[in-house]
Amino acid sequence: MSDDLTTPQAQNEAELAFEGALRPKSLGEFVGQSKVRGQLQLLLTAARIQERTADHILLAGPPGLGKTTLAMIVATESDRPLRMSSGPAIQHAGDLAAVLSSLVPGEVLFIDEIHRMARSAEEMLYLAMEDFRIDIMVGKGAGATSIPLDLAPFTLVGATTRSGLLPNPLRDRFGFTAHLEFYSDDELEKVLDRAAGMLELDIDREALAEIAGRSRGTPRIANRLLRRVRDYALVHTGRADLPAVRAALELYDVDELGLDRLDRAVMQTVLTRFDGGPVGLSTLAVSVGEEAETIESVVEPFLVRIGLISRTPRGRVATAQAWRHFGLEPSRPTGG
Ligand code: ATP
Repeated sequence: MSDDLTTPQAQNEAELAFEGALRPKSLGEFVGQSKVRGQLQLLLTAARIQERTADHILLAGPPGLGKTTLAMIVATESDRPLRMSSGPAIQHAGDLAAVLSSLVPGEVLFIDEIHRMARSAEEMLYLAMEDFRIDIMVGKGAGATSIPLDLAPFTLVGATTRSGLLPNPLRDRFGFTAHLEFYSDDELEKVLDRAAGMLELDIDREALAEIAGRSRGTPRIANRLLRRVRDYALVHTGRADLPAVRAALELYDVDELGLDRLDRAVMQTVLTRFDGGPVGLSTLAVSVGEEAETIESVVEPFLVRIGLISRTPRGRVATAQAWRHFGLEPSRPTGG
């Protein structure tokens, strides 16, 4: 993964600490995603009325849109403790058994990147989610026996950038799947306004709107750009106004659509090397030297959303808008 300013994954400990301070603590404070908020509110309230654990929840969507934040809010709003884990940390069924058997009644278990969990652990999770029970295998070969173990009831909150990779039996065991969408510019302005207040940064509306427009619909990126603008104002202009935003973001190579180096490399490849496409995902990934997963879950959803690429059964195709944005002439008519 590149270390660009517009990478939607968190980049280092300092950023994680900053994000921790900025995280909304309740559904009411959480900006945007109004549909998902309403759905979660209903689910949590019903569980509270019946004094039971809430149904298992799957949060699906690109990185940086607030999945971890929502998992924390689920625990806070239902007044339950939260345990955090992640798919890559669960490489054996035993890793999962250790976590599950130590949960206290009603605990919320958050598993980030749940699609990256080991297959054997996935199978253990089916039973745990359904019956709050697991079978622990003892011994090997013909002498192996399984010992059933009852678990405390818990709510699983899984997060994934690739819900398509989850096996159906796992997906079906979530009572509710929330699909997080990219944020509108208005919503990002609200996120930024809140963050600017916490940073005690005096910034005008025009400047906030400009940052929002370059943030790829992603709160994490918006907050990161805001910090660079704050630095720029501190060092150069003394004010966080529109010229300061433009100068700061130009310095960091973030263009007016929020495209970064990797987006531009992908677009240049489709436009110039493959004459606008169609081009397959794996060919594209190899051409720009990036993992296919990153192209598919991070770069492509954004390029499709802003109308530079369309997906066809034969591969990815550049739209007419893409040719225009890069100031290039298509050698044959384009579809969009
Ligand atoms: P990843 O999958 O990479 O961990 P994520 O989807 O879990 O990303 P979060 O870590 O929850 O994203 O959010 C990133 C940052 O963006 C948080 O620090 C939070 O401050 C901010 N943020 C996300 N969503 C919102 C929101 N709706 N309102 C305000 N701030 C938000």
